[in-house]
Amino acid sequence: MDEQQLRRDLAAVFRVCARRDWNENLGNHLSVSLPNEDGHFLVNPRGKHFRQVRASDLIVCDLDGNTVRGEGKIRPVAFHIHARIHKAHPNAAVLLHVHSPYATALSGIDMFRFGRVFNANLLLNDRIVYDDAKNGSVSGVEEGDRLASLLGNKSILFMASHGVLVAGGDIATAFYELCMFERLCMNTLQAMSTGAKLRDLPESLLIPSHVPIQKYVDPEMHMTAWHDMLSREEPDYCH
Ligand SMILES: [Zn+2]
Repeated sequence: MDEQQLRRDLAAVFRVCARRDWNENLGNHLSVSLPNEDGHFLVNPRGKHFRQVRASDLIVCDLDGNTVRGEGKIRPVAFHIHARIHKAHPNAAVLLHVHSPYATALSGIDMFRFGRVFNANLLLNDRIVYDDAKNGSVSGVEEGDRLASLLGNKSILFMASHGVLVAGGDIATAFYELCMFERLCMNTLQAMSTGAKLRDLPESLLIPSHVPIQKYVDPEMHMTAWHDMLSREEPDYCH
């Protein structure tokens, strides 16, 4: 996939996140490694709201946090998280980090663990890594390295008192997983809020994380549907 298509896909994800209020003010960051440029990745520049991001606004950064192309700088916290995880996990080309409301709400529950309540639990539970450390905001590369090591080969990092980071090999898949995860968090919180006993689906139904999610869902079709909607409703995203 060429850089222009990656820019267009990532810009679409910024717009969808903004529509759903998954970004926190000017914070949060989405990045994708450039396939033909070792150690370079596309990311949103500091100060640009998710709702404003166009494909051409994304900057190219290196693993030291320098802007290689484009205007603006990477936010320090984005550098600490994204550069270090991209460095440690070259296969995780895409990193989506947001403070989406339902995931963040659940991340505030001490030692929260997902049960086997919904169908989505069966597909996602084995992909989730729990970060229970209470280290405050990510303020250095050491913290980024710790997150990278914790993530391992899983795709969803559930960050205590903070939010979520989804890693993936391509934008459509990581985006699909993020959408599915935030919806699962919403369903979980709503079910918990009734105080009623939650279902416990059989453990044998859990789908191991090494099984590609594409076996059950179609992330590319989902991405295309969003491109269609955004092209009509906010066409500047792909400029
Ligand atoms: Zn964050």
